[in-house]
Amino acid sequence: MKVAVPKEIRPGERRVAIVPQDVKTLVKRGLEVVVEAGAGLTAGVSDEQYREAGATVASTSAEALRGAKLVLRVNPPSLAAPDELAGVERGSVLVSFLSPLTNLDLVKRLAEAGITAISMEMVPRITRAQSMDALSSQATVAGYKAVLLAADHLPKFLPMFTTAAGTIRPAKALVLGAGVAGLQAIATVRRLGAVVEAFDVRPAVKEQVQSLGAKFLETEHDVTAEGEGGYAKELSEEQHKKELELIGRAIVDADVVITTAQIPGRDAPLLITEEMLATMRPGSVIVDLASESGGNCARTKSGETVVVNGVQILGPVNLPAGVPVHASQMYSRNIVTLVAELIGDDGALALDFENDVVGPSTVTHAGEVTNERIRQALRSQP
Ligand code: NAD
Repeated sequence: MKVAVPKEIRPGERRVAIVPQDVKTLVKRGLEVVVEAGAGLTAGVSDEQYREAGATVASTSAEALRGAKLVLRVNPPSLAAPDELAGVERGSVLVSFLSPLTNLDLVKRLAEAGITAISMEMVPRITRAQSMDALSSQATVAGYKAVLLAADHLPKFLPMFTTAAGTIRPAKALVLGAGVAGLQAIATVRRLGAVVEAFDVRPAVKEQVQSLGAKFLETEHDVTAEGEGGYAKELSEEQHKKELELIGRAIVDADVVITTAQIPGRDAPLLITEEMLATMRPGSVIVDLASESGGNCARTKSGETVVVNGVQILGPVNLPAGVPVHASQMYSRNIVTLVAELIGDDGALALDFENDVVGPSTVTHAGEVTNERIRQALRSQP
């Protein structure tokens, strides 16, 4: 069976879906891997390295896709580049990030094209599927990179220095939302020497925050919103007010604020208001990792840096592409582990929708949208 790995064409993308180490795994399973020329270059992989691992290199994406039964990608095929989708053959399986709930037009097109689409976002967060959890692997990269961005924009040192020219006090960092990205941001900014405070609405996180050497912000009021599957849900209006008071007290002192708070299927909660910005020191830096889902800060602009009273507010998009070598290595391991669930011992496709990973992560099959949440979203489309 032929497996195609096209080159990613999203602007700013530098990752690739498969690295040579995992090509070897697929080849060992009897698959024929075809990578588009240059697909790995920005992730530090040459065509030669792919060949050495047992892949064939195709000169165009159309050539890579021709006859492929399985297509592995990082980003969804772009509707603006019709060849990306047109080249994927009817009856084949596409595995990729698809953002299916916010990309309904694409989902419809995938169903019409008779493609079985498997969304990396829909891989269930069960223990068995941890090694296939690309949301977590890429959030780890984003949390790390967010701190480096903040350090680069901060007009100060992060660590304490005792020098002949005087003593420099360590910078203060505040991390809001301590899920996968937030915990990585805490660990990274601690390693760089900052003093760190953090807050999350899931109380279970407190110990993890403390074990990384950060202080967990506490309030005498109950500000918790534990949802399903380890996720948060929306706070009540009253609790949200209490949370804003808590953040408002802490943010005055912060040099760096990293925000990562998200609620599945909703806009990101507002955690930094206009009033809070006015109390912050000029030069301080906010990196809003929720910028693509509306932002945690009132003045965030996705993909831009906004300066308000000297406070720099960064709304980066696609941070994992900023560490493409390791982001690709981790994504590749996630996707190859998932592929093992899709093929039989003979190396041919063996789709089992009763499989507790394959079933929930499949969004289209045999001309139909198979995921109930997406079907609902399609029905409520105007
Ligand atoms: P996420 O990206 O959806 O959200 C990031 C964080 O924001 C979460 O910790 C959430 O609690 C927090 N948040 C939401 N609203 C907030 C608010 N108003 N104020 C402060 N913080 C707020 O979450 P994620 O990082 O993808 O995952 C969250 C959790 O899911 C993990 O920490 C873990 O417990 C669980 N998880 C489980 C598995 C697994 O079992 N395989 C895998 C990944 C994650």
